[in-house]
Amino acid sequence: MNLDAVSLTRELLSFNTVNPPGDERDCAHFVGHLLEAAGYQTNYYEFADKRATLIARIGGSGDKLPLCFTGHLDTVPLGVAPWARDPLAGESAGDKLFGRGSSDMKSGVAAMVVMALRVAKLPARKSGVILVLTAGEETTCEGAHYVAGLDGVLGRAGAIVVGEPTANAPLIAHKGCVRYAINFKGVAAHGFMPEQGVNAIYRAAEAVRQLAALDFAVPTHPFLGKPTLAVTMINGGTAINMIPAQATISLDIRTLPGQTEPEIRQKLIAALGDDAEFQLIHGAASVGSDANHEWVQQVYAIMHRLTGTQPVPAGATYFTDCSVLTPAYGNPPTLILGPGEPEVAHKTDEYCYLSKIELALEAYLAIAKEWCAL
Ligand SMILES: [Zn+2]
Repeated sequence: MNLDAVSLTRELLSFNTVNPPGDERDCAHFVGHLLEAAGYQTNYYEFADKRATLIARIGGSGDKLPLCFTGHLDTVPLGVAPWARDPLAGESAGDKLFGRGSSDMKSGVAAMVVMALRVAKLPARKSGVILVLTAGEETTCEGAHYVAGLDGVLGRAGAIVVGEPTANAPLIAHKGCVRYAINFKGVAAHGFMPEQGVNAIYRAAEAVRQLAALDFAVPTHPFLGKPTLAVTMINGGTAINMIPAQATISLDIRTLPGQTEPEIRQKLIAALGDDAEFQLIHGAASVGSDANHEWVQQVYAIMHRLTGTQPVPAGATYFTDCSVLTPAYGNPPTLILGPGEPEVAHKTDEYCYLSKIELALEAYLAIAKEWCAL
């Protein structure tokens, strides 16, 4: 089958893999069948019903470690604002292809899969390729955690490309992530006698104000910038006529290399006081590769040739499955490189440029050919 990356992106968009609930199984098997037909060995790992991660591999004649390409199959929800385009139909206008996951990151997955189908036909392939297409990345990288925790499932890899949206700029680092739920307790009372209770929502609201002004006071990273903190959810109260005895806020913190969870927690406690109850919901490591690594330089040269722009060391502000996969593979050099537009990911009327999907395919193919030829 001579599948092109744009058609495959459209196919992948038609699978509703909005997470939650996810339902990546059908999408994973669709891709898996294409790869099997081309000679790949495929395995599926479900961390929960229908939450399938696909691992596909093909070998080479030498003993160099394979090159890993990774991406996720799930997407974020559509959001509350109405879409001007059908988010599952793969509608295009000019150079834009619309849909939930078009940028983040079914276009990247499609380009990787088409690259993999072509690599399978390379006659003198000395090393192989492994594709790790995960479920559940958008929530807490559950799919990546699951396969990383299974003995011998990931195998080994000499380098990793993760196809998250970078508009085809090769990035060498990204932030980590720490998420908490913070619980505030109060004392319930009747709504007409607030003075007899302690209002937990007022306590949470005061904390929100403190957090909005919080500065982690760490040096700005040369290309990741500053760490960020956002209060992303707030829940509390029991009934409209009761003084609330409980309120919870949720925090999403994006960290720089060197920031650890215990240090962050300490800083939050210093700001909020220690009677708030902290629950760690999720932690993900930051990723950083050496810009001078030989392979990184090879990829820079490929991207310079394809785009006319010399890449400079840069990082992504979001985290990826490589928070899990890069350490699991023993910290090989890792690049974030994908056709999607980082600015439109997770937004209403998300789109990707058709021309960048084609360019990502060319880039992946050149990277794989160079890797597999040696
Ligand atoms: Zn993504």
